[in-house]
Formats: sequence, structure tokens, C-alpha cells
Amino acid sequence: MIEVILVALFAAALFAAGCRAPAPAPAKPPLIKLSAEQKIKVTQEGAAAFESACGGLFPDANLQKYVEGVGAKLVITIPENHPRNFPFSFRVLNAKTVNAFATPGGYIYVTRGLLAILDNEDELAAVLAHQMAHVTMGHFDKNASALLTLNVGLEKPAPAEAVAEQCPGPLSLPDGTVLARNLREFRFSGEDEAEADAIAMQYVARTNKYDPRAVVDVEGMLDSLQSPPVAEMRSWRHTHPGPSDRKRRMEDILTAKYPEVVLAAKPFVPLDAAVAKMTGTKPCFDLFDRAEKQRDLGERMLRCGFPKNAKERLEYASALYDKAMARAKESGLVIAGFYSARALALYDMFQSAPDEQYRNRAREDFDDAKRIDGDNFVARLFRGYFFLAVDKFYKKAEEELLEAARLDGGGEHGGLAYFYLANLYDNAAFEGRSEQKAAHYYEIYLALEPLGAEAPKAAERLGALKPDSAILRLLEQRP
Ligand SMILES: [Zn+2]
Repeated sequence: MIEVILVALFAAALFAAGCRAPAPAPAKPPLIKLSAEQKIKVTQEGAAAFESACGGLFPDANLQKYVEGVGAKLVITIPENHPRNFPFSFRVLNAKTVNAFATPGGYIYVTRGLLAILDNEDELAAVLAHQMAHVTMGHFDKNASALLTLNVGLEKPAPAEAVAEQCPGPLSLPDGTVLARNLREFRFSGEDEAEADAIAMQYVARTNKYDPRAVVDVEGMLDSLQSPPVAEMRSWRHTHPGPSDRKRRMEDILTAKYPEVVLAAKPFVPLDAAVAKMTGTKPCFDLFDRAEKQRDLGERMLRCGFPKNAKERLEYASALYDKAMARAKESGLVIAGFYSARALALYDMFQSAPDEQYRNRAREDFDDAKRIDGDNFVARLFRGYFFLAVDKFYKKAEEELLEAARLDGGGEHGGLAYFYLANLYDNAAFEGRSEQKAAHYYEIYLALEPLGAEAPKAAERLGALKPDSAILRLLEQRP
């Protein structure tokens, strides 16, 4: 039965959709349409949590402005008979995977990994136009699980509640929480992808600046591979034999609808220098990745009871983070995620050998991470934890943890923000103490992490605060 709650939560989790292999044709789901206003609301409220779960935005204003500018050229080409009321926004995520995402309300994301493999601006326009088409053509309306998601907190009775009706006492997530959790599982149908390709050619051609041939060129780039390293991707692009049916179909459209473009074969528009600058930061991200691997090893050793070996690894990780950050600085980048990652290594070092200086340095890094990016989940969570458990500054802890919970979406980060919030409201020394709130957050944590490290503690306290909680019965029934 626990699955039922989880299904409801997970279904509630989808926020944006990647473009990869099309899903097999699903059984016809009931078609329920959301208004544009609802899609926009869900997108705007969920954007920060989504971006936080994807590594944050790439911290270069020039690059963001550049991509926004290319997107703007496409937005003005949307024909009269397509919906034009979405507040389109185009953003670069600081993620090395090669991908692009559309959100129901018109925020379009491309990753740094994707930008690094584009050959020209026309290809960037093609990728953005394809994602825009998913929005304008209403492709989010056709997926039942997406609908479940989008309805959470918007309509009553929401389909998510209908699912939850099967178990008593459905959980509601905090207001305004839109979740990124199912992002990676979502696929548009092959039919929708083909339509998005055709519409993308139309938008691109209507700019009179970019070449719709680029839409064919980027075909398959996003759909055929899952998160390959950039170098591999580049070689794949030049060696992949193709052509797929989809590509052939696109070439037919191109010849039939835009013959003058095919004949003219004018040169593509080169990418802006901001992209080359970003590509030049690869060594610093490589150092960061190496540091992450060492930290991961260190954490495993710590968990397995080898603090001395763990500390060596973590020290090495910390030194690699230092180098990565120095490199980033040379490129004029200040990246919140680097600070919060080094802080985690330092805090792990404190756990492997309780020396105050490690914890203090970790706190400084978390403070810096928050200062650089207020939407950095890890920084908000740990600042909250320190205020709660170390300083006993409960009011400050509440502020940080509520932010962390908002950024956590549906427990993308393991639900700990909810557990600490529950602890806070469960604390007799806190003047804002509330048994009701404490029980509420214990329930959310248990629904997200029924097997989590803190689950036994959470279940015990929930049992004391709200013995009739449905989730306790479900946990008992678990084999
Ligand atoms: Zn697509």
C-alpha cells in the first residue's frame, strides 16, 4: 500500500520533460486539459526547485543573455494561430549532460553540455524552437501522468487526490511545491516529437536569420543518447551513420516546404564568444568531477567505519575543489555549487575527525554558497541544520529549512529538509513549536523515504504525535 502514496507523490513530481527516445504508445489516457494560466503557475513556482536539482543556472550573465536573445528571435515568429501567451524564457543549466527541456509554462532549458557540442547558432535556435513547439502544440496535455502532476495544488478534486483516495489520509505537499523528481522518466510520444520537429522548422525559417536545415542537423542529438560525456558525444555526431526514419521525414519536409533554403545553402550563423568562453571552462569542471569522485569514496569509507582512510580521501577531494575553484576564478566564474560541494567534504572531514576548524570552514563555504545563489539547496539545508542542531537559533533554522524544502521539490535530495523541519517543530525549546506541523513533515519525510536513514526515528515520533496517521499503518503493512 505504501506504493500508492508513493505513486501519488511521484506522479506529482513531474515538472519538465526531456527529449530522448520516444515512449511506446501508451493506452489512451483520459484527456484533461490545463489552462495556460495553470501551466504557467506550475512552471513559475517550480522553476527554482527544478534548477536547483539540475546544478543551478550557469553563472555567466553574458551567456544567459545570449541564449535568451536567440530565443527571443524565435518567440516573435510564433504564428497568430498558435498560442502566444506563454512567458517564454530561455536558460542555461550548469549540467554537463547533453540535454534540453521544455516546461509546460514556457521556460526552456539547455544544458552547458549541450551548448558545448553545438556547431553554430542555427543549431541552438533549432533546439530552442523544438522545445517551444512542445509547449505551443500542447504536448503536455497528452500525458496522463503529467496531468496528474500539473493538477497538484491547482484544482480540486485533483487527479492526484483521486489516486490517493485509495489510501486514507492522503498527504499534501507544502503549497507552491512543484517537483522535479520524475523529470528523467518523462518522454514525449514519437508523434509529438515529429510534430515538434516540423513546427521547429517553421519557427526557425520564419526568423529569416536561421536555417531550418539546422533542425535536421540536431536531430537525434538529444534523442539517441543518455548523458554521454561531451567528447564522446562530439565523436558520435561525426560518425553516427543514421539516417533514422525521423530524419528522413524531416528532410522530406525541408525539401517540400523550404526548397529555396535548401538551394541557397547559406552559411550558418556562428556561435557567440560567450559559448567558447563556457567551453573553455571544461578543465575546471573536470577538476570538480574528480573532486566529487574522491568525496564519494571518502563518504563510503566513512559509512563503512574507516574514518582515517576517509579523511585522507576527503582531504584530497578538498584540495581538488580548491584547484577547480581557482580555475573557475580565472575564467571569471563564481559557482555556488563548488562552494557547497567543498563544504560537504569539509563537514565529512569533521565527522571523520571532530576538529572544529573543519566544521567552521564548512560553514563559511555554505554561507558563501548561499550568498552567491540563494537557491542553492545544499547550502540552505545545512545552514538550517547547523542553526537547529549546533547554534539552537530556531527562528533562523526555520527560515533556512523552509527554503530548503521548497527547493527540494518532491524529495529529489532525499527529503532531509522535511525531516529537519519536523525536528524543529517537534522541539520544546522552539517557541514556534507545533505538533501538527511536526507530524505533517514527518509524514512527508516517511512518504518520500520509507527506508531512509531517519525513517525509524520519524516513525517513532509520528507515532507519539499522531498515532492514527495513515502512513504508520502503511509502514506496518510493508513486508
Ligand atoms: Zn522533443
